[in-house]
Amino acid sequence: MAGIDLLIDLNNRRSFYKFVQPIWAMSLRSKSTTSVIMLDIDHFKLFNDNYGHALGDRVLVQLSETLQKEARSGDILARWGGEEFLVFLPETRLTDAVTIAERIRKKISTIQIATDKDDKLSFAASLGVASTLDGNVSLDELISQADQQLYRAKKQGRNRVCSESSG
Ligand code: GH3
Ligand code: MG
Ligand code: MG
Repeated sequence: MAGIDLLIDLNNRRSFYKFVQPIWAMSLRSKSTTSVIMLDIDHFKLFNDNYGHALGDRVLVQLSETLQKEARSGDILARWGGEEFLVFLPETRLTDAVTIAERIRKKISTIQIATDKDDKLSFAASLGVASTLDGNVSLDELISQADQQLYRAKKQGRNRVCSESSG
């Protein structure tokens, strides 16, 4: 249980590294391309402020269920921080990872959270994608590149996917 987030059924950072490290080592040896998607909920603080922390928690649970459905077998998911999630995609090229990220983003925008006032709330997320091109980066560098792309997605207006290839 120590490696599993209590609120949502995903790896935390520590168990993420435990699962990913051997896969990463193998991909270096076979020189295959690995991609990473970093996701952060848009304006989540406002969501909490307006509707309460309990509803915010339900957003996190719904989001993690969506990620689990959208991830392929072999992909590794983690709750990276409070409202930040990571998807590790072995043997996946950047263009395919961007397609998956875009699919996740669209799916998230269809989630409806029911409130006790009988209305439905929706939310959005921004995603950053990076991939190893020639195996010359470390795992942490790759994650950091995805994080930089996420930052760009936020700056460009949120609810979008940015990647190294998106200029
Ligand atoms: P941005 O679009 O720039 O990402 O804005 P944001 O409001 O999402 O980002 P910010 O980092 O300002 O706020 C993140 C919020 O996430 C603040 C914190 O209260 C909330 N949060 C983090 N962990 C949890 C959690 O486990 N449950 C709930 N309900 N909220 C959480
Ligand atoms: Mg955040
Ligand atoms: Mg956020």
